[in-house]
Amino acid sequence: SRREGFSAVPNIKWDDVGGLHLLRQEFDRYIVRRIKHPEDYEDFGVDLETGFLLYGPPGCGKTLIAKAVANEAGANFIHIKGPELLNKYVGESELAVRTIFSRARTCSPCILFFDEVDSLTTKRGKEGGWVVERLLNQLLIELDGADQRRDVYVIGATNRPEVMDRAVLRPGRFGKLLYVPLPTPDERGMILKALARKKPIDASVDLMAIGKDTSCENLSGADLSALINEAAMTALEDKLTSSSKSSDGTSWTIQDTHFERALKKIS
Ligand code: ATP
Repeated sequence: SRREGFSAVPNIKWDDVGGLHLLRQEFDRYIVRRIKHPEDYEDFGVDLETGFLLYGPPGCGKTLIAKAVANEAGANFIHIKGPELLNKYVGESELAVRTIFSRARTCSPCILFFDEVDSLTTKRGKEGGWVVERLLNQLLIELDGADQRRDVYVIGATNRPEVMDRAVLRPGRFGKLLYVPLPTPDERGMILKALARKKPIDASVDLMAIGKDTSCENLSGADLSALINEAAMTALEDKLTSSSKSSDGTSWTIQDTHFERALKKIS
């Protein structure tokens, strides 16, 4: 696995993200164009937030968007997992926080992504105890140093914003809150299309219709990814178990029947 704080421009493109158009617009304004046209932003004296909190149910694309934003902006991406940071450096997590921000500054433009950020920022005096408290204080110091960290953008992600200390949600910290909801029926179709780009889906399959189907109600992006993967697996098994049929020259694709079987399996 990659070392902590490994930075690179991610290879997730906006085409890999289904739906979430409003979020894309927000991030274009707040990050992508600002990295691409810094002089213009400066000339117009626009002062915008550099810290964001993505919140909402699991598996709806928080990590994916953050990576796509970095890719689009040509920025480096540092992925920090909250619980890991907390547990791996017992007694040294404050130093780890300082190191992470300093690394982000040296590889700017950079997106610093804190996954499960709630674990680092639980309300003081509650769950975490003094380890979390000291770490949180260090994090606040770093976040408040935003002036010195030009072109470092901080994005946190959480499924439980309600447990977070209010202090971290102030402007200049994780100041801009963005909700990442479960997909609508149309968005489910768009997510399936995004996920299908690298799979041999038969031309007869209507992914928008599958997305709108009631059997897909309440599925997250991660669930839809599991669905399409299961459909692909089912199609592959069909191919591998019927060697006689494959000799007629028709190519094997993922068809409606595979999606139907996959839906039964995952639901
Ligand atoms: P968690 O809160 O569990 O960390 P998350 O919101 O960060 O979840 P992601 O890790 O971004 O979710 O999504 C998990 C996977 O689900 C993605 O790698 C992708 O395959 C699929 N997925 C989720 N949302 C989308 C989407 N909007 N478009 C395309 N794929 C998606």
